[in-house]
Amino acid sequence: MAEHAPQRDPEAPPVELLAVRAANPGPLTLTGTNSYVLRDGAQVWVVDPGPKDPEHLAELLLTCGADARPQGVLVTHRHLDHSAGAATLARQLSARSGVEVPLWAADQAAVPGSRPLPSTLEGERGTVGHVIHLPGHTSDSVAVLVDGGRLLSGDTLLGGSSTVIVPEDGGNLTEYLQSLAILRALAMDGRIGAIHPGHGEPIDSPLDVLAVIEESIAHRQERIEQVRRARTAGVLTLDRLLRVVYGDELPEELRGPARWNLRATLDHLAEQG
Ligand SMILES: [Zn+2]
Repeated sequence: MAEHAPQRDPEAPPVELLAVRAANPGPLTLTGTNSYVLRDGAQVWVVDPGPKDPEHLAELLLTCGADARPQGVLVTHRHLDHSAGAATLARQLSARSGVEVPLWAADQAAVPGSRPLPSTLEGERGTVGHVIHLPGHTSDSVAVLVDGGRLLSGDTLLGGSSTVIVPEDGGNLTEYLQSLAILRALAMDGRIGAIHPGHGEPIDSPLDVLAVIEESIAHRQERIEQVRRARTAGVLTLDRLLRVVYGDELPEELRGPARWNLRATLDHLAEQG
């Protein structure tokens, strides 16, 4: 968080936050990816354009508005359900406005064609949002804290479900817990009033925000304890641990993600010695 970032013009109306949901529902995407358009006067920013679906990208262009002056397209992390359409949308916005629109991501190797993220989104009326690095779900996960305490959380926090730690994309449970601690501190400081997640419904009261963050921390700690106990009891293989921790009723399509979480938990226990 940039403490000395330019402040927002107190006379300016709040930044508009518009959500557009992609038609890609699934076990991990829930009801589909939530893409967001930030509008501040004629200036617009797009966060997580989502999949490379022409209809979805057309709807985002429409939501930006014909008079838009696009400032940038940001992805919260590398996963294709957030980023696959990003380069195309940046090109379309560039073509329409006649100004080159940058694509921003935390990791240039993971998101082709991207440039390093700015620490804040700056518009004519001042600061529109702060970028917060929150590794854990993946190594390149970020959130955007928009004017008025609205957190675009990407996949770090979801609406109505817990996220997956994906070790093969640099996901790490120790870092995830540190990221949740950062969010808890911000929420306790009254700086997060709502969460607009990458998937699921928004969480729109400060009390619920704090509750969701606390629950996420408690849920992870409970899982870590379960795995620790099972290992102490001699359950050593990933398959057997999967059964002990998640039970026999785990649907087939969630076995892969459960395995990633389990691997991340074992890595975390190893890191803790
Ligand atoms: Zn993701």
